[in-house]
Formats: sequence, structure tokens, C-alpha cells
Amino acid sequence: VRKQVLELTQAKDSAEQANRAKSDFLATMSHEIRTPMNGIIGMTELVLDTKLDDEQREYLSMVKSSADSLLSIINDILDFSKLESGKMELEKTEFDVRALLTEVTKLLSLKAEQKGLELVYDAETAVPEMVVGDPGRLRQVLINLVGNAIKFTDRGAIIVHVKIRETRSNTVLLNFEVEDHGIGIALDKLAHIFKAFTQADTSTTRKYGGTGLGLAISSQMVVAMGGELAVRSVLGQGSVFSFDIPYGIGIKPVQIQTAAVLQGMPVLIVDDNAPNLRLLS
Ligand code: ADP
Repeated sequence: VRKQVLELTQAKDSAEQANRAKSDFLATMSHEIRTPMNGIIGMTELVLDTKLDDEQREYLSMVKSSADSLLSIINDILDFSKLESGKMELEKTEFDVRALLTEVTKLLSLKAEQKGLELVYDAETAVPEMVVGDPGRLRQVLINLVGNAIKFTDRGAIIVHVKIRETRSNTVLLNFEVEDHGIGIALDKLAHIFKAFTQADTSTTRKYGGTGLGLAISSQMVVAMGGELAVRSVLGQGSVFSFDIPYGIGIKPVQIQTAAVLQGMPVLIVDDNAPNLRLLS
């Protein structure tokens, strides 16, 4: 028995060592690749700022967008290998949830607008202003989910909902949902889309692009933050990606109570978009 235990311990040690070597290799490689990539992107931007003819500008813009997407794949792989090896460290800091949502929707609004989509967020009034947790990871997950919603939708609105699931003395469980009315996902594919390098329809790969890493990373990040990423979807009608995350309740900054000032005042809301009007009212 003692011999067996010794052998098992040795096998475990060498497996762990191999795993560490793999993670270190991936982390080092991603870093080594990123440095020259930034050089390529930076220099390309500089040349794009100079006088060029139309053909040169077109070709160089393609270099730039290819380099950008290569860099984002490298970043995904680095994130994925960090998550796999348990090296992803979570931050714990106070942040403004609504400001973060504004930032995410602003960042992606141009992409949405180019497809004629409305992108809005809807946070319940009771959601605390400041919470304590990891804003960077939440931002990354939301950018990924909203990015997908834009990618797989051709009409209507994309809405990010934030609600309170549960309040305890100094923590709050927030529910986030990203709702789209896009192509939807077939029932038999729903279970697979969270796996790395998996896409619902392999033929969509060519139409939509992507690596199939986004949801794998997002779902592991949500788990790291104490939740679970779930999806409801009807093929041809749209999808809702949903997750709950526990946060500490932060200290509310002192500010003018706009809601109180506006109480009882008639308000005229003008917008060309029905869901937006509903949310605003
Ligand atoms: P990628 O977008 O790079 O393919 P993801 O992991 O983000 O990788 O998504 C995996 C697959 O899940 C996508 O290829 C697509 O088939 C499906 N999917 C993700 N989000 C949506 C959505 N909002 N609507 C329809 N299909 C989606």
C-alpha cells in the first residue's frame, strides 16, 4: 500500500507540474505574441493617418482589422488558459453598476446602430448605486453577451436587464439578463454552446465569424464570481442569457436626489423606438 501511495503521489506531482508548465507556456506565449501584435497595430494606425490613395487605405484597413481580431483571439486564449489553470484573480472593489452598464452600451452602440438595432439597459430602481465586486470581469461578460446579441440579431431591441434577486443585510444578489430577438438557438444545441470552441451551427461560422471561446470564458467567469450562466432561447425568436451574482452593498455617494426633484412633474419623452419609450416611462 505504501508503495502504491508513493507512486500515486509521484504521478500527481508530475501531472501538476506538467499542467503548470502548460499554463506557463500559454501565458508566456500569449504575452510574447501580444508585444509584436501591438507594434503591428500601432504602426498600421500611424500609416493610416498619413496621405494614402484609396486602394492603399483599403488594404491597410484590412491589415488593421485582421490584426485587431487576431489580438482579440489571443486575449481570449490567454483568459481561457488562466481560467483553466485557476489563475484568474478576482478584484474586490466598489463600483457603480449603472455607470458600468452605460459604458458597455456606449461601447457597443455603434455596432448596434450599424445594424439598425436599439441597445438599451433597464436597471430596477432598487438596485443599489454602488456595489462591491469585480467590475472588470462583469464588464467582460456583458460585452461578450451583448456583442453576441448584436452579432446574431437583425432587428428590434437588445435589452440588458438588472434586477434584485435577493437582499441580505450587507449583500445583494443581482440578476443580469441580456435579451435579444435574433436568430435564437436550437434546443439540442443549447447545452453545447458553453463549451470551448463550439458554435451552435457550424455553417454560421462563416457568416458570423468567431472562435466559440466567448461563452466558454463568460460562463467560467460567472462561476468564478459566484453565479451560473444560463440561457433560454427559441429558434427564430431570440435568446435570453441570464446569471445571478452576489455583491457587497457599497456606500452611496452624496448627490442631488433627481428622482425627488422630478416627483409629480409631467414629462414628455420623444423617441422613435417603442421598447425605449416603454423603458423610459
Ligand atoms: P462565437 O461567438 O465566437 O462563435 P461564443 O462562445 O460567444 O462564440 O458563442 C458560441 C455559439 O453560441 C455561437 O457561435 C452561436 O452559434 C451561439 N450564440 C451565442 N450567442 C447567441 C445569441 N445571442 N443568439 C444566437 N446564437 C448565439
